[in-house]
Amino acid sequence: MLAAAGFAKGGLIRCNERRDSRARLGDAGLKPAAFDYRAPRTLDEALQLVDANREAKLLAGGQSLVPVLNFRLASPPLLVDLNRIASLAGISRHADGGLVIGAMTRNRAIEKSELVRRANPLLHAAMPYIAHPQIRNRGTIGGSLAHADPAAELPAVCIACDAELSIARKGATRAVRARDFFRGFFTTALEPNDILVSIRFPAWPAGRRHGFVELSRRHGDFAIVGVAATVEDRQARIVVFGAEDVPRLFEETLTPETPKDVRARCAPRADHHASAEYRSELIEVLTRRALQQAAGA
Ligand SMILES: Cc1cc2nc3c(=O)[nH]c(=O)nc-3n(C[C@H](O)[C@H](O)[C@H](O)COP(=O)(O)OP(=O)(O)OC[C@H]3O[C@@H](n4cnc5c(N)ncnc54)[C@H](O)[C@@H]3O)c2cc1C
Repeated sequence: MLAAAGFAKGGLIRCNERRDSRARLGDAGLKPAAFDYRAPRTLDEALQLVDANREAKLLAGGQSLVPVLNFRLASPPLLVDLNRIASLAGISRHADGGLVIGAMTRNRAIEKSELVRRANPLLHAAMPYIAHPQIRNRGTIGGSLAHADPAAELPAVCIACDAELSIARKGATRAVRARDFFRGFFTTALEPNDILVSIRFPAWPAGRRHGFVELSRRHGDFAIVGVAATVEDRQARIVVFGAEDVPRLFEETLTPETPKDVRARCAPRADHHASAEYRSELIEVLTRRALQQAAGA
């Protein structure tokens, strides 16, 4: 699709040739502003491209990025397509019994994975809540985490599981805990020359239980509020998402008052989906339900 819209120039594809942002859609033929397009086959090549072009954007499943480009909310001069880098996709067991999931692994592959179902029941439970099957067929775990929508399911699950994100830039790799990765509204610890490579979920201890609940207007919509929780004995990790600018982690010793306490410490936002008061009520109700789910009630 992209290639058909442009022309090859030494491996570079030029899309929507008129760069002039005043170009009328009819003249240019495509919705996004003009951009160059590269599809490297190795991570090293991709890292070099983003290192040399700090304004470049990475293309994963395109489910969030393409609408942003089409609405011209972003006009990057270069798109670096990660889809041909085979090493970025896949699900495997870590030596510690946990999981390692490549950033370019499609959400549908995670949802359907028997290994994920056995090794991380919370991740397995959350997957069907992400959008619709058609979007999960293309959308990737890395794209979802990098996009950092405050109402997205995967950031909350990664924080609840204390997952660790492996991030590469030219000549260096670093690990960032999920709880430290989300910095603000659609903002993460990623720098322009970084590529999220994989996500490591620590082993799931025997006896750990989980709960996952969310409320959205229709199935497949982003959550108005959601809660992901893990419980071991009376210790809980409760992550509230959709309420504030970033998913919020509460590490609690459970008491009957826990749902009320969590509610009291959140400062939910208001938007066209729900008032702050409504979200506040939801936080308490959904926290209670997630904990009841975890208790098998
Ligand atoms: C109708 C609709 C409903 C949706 N509902 C939900 C929902 O309920 N819950 C939900 O969680 N999501 C939802 N989504 C979003 C969907 O899950 C997207 O797939 C996801 O947010 C982005 O993943 P992607 O692979 O498509 O990334 P892209 O759109 O390709 O990229 C998103 C952003 O991440 C960056 N990026 C991608 N990969 C990397 C990487 N490896 N390293 C660094 N940066 C990277 C890109 O540069 C871009 O800025 C919905 C989308 C649509 C269109």
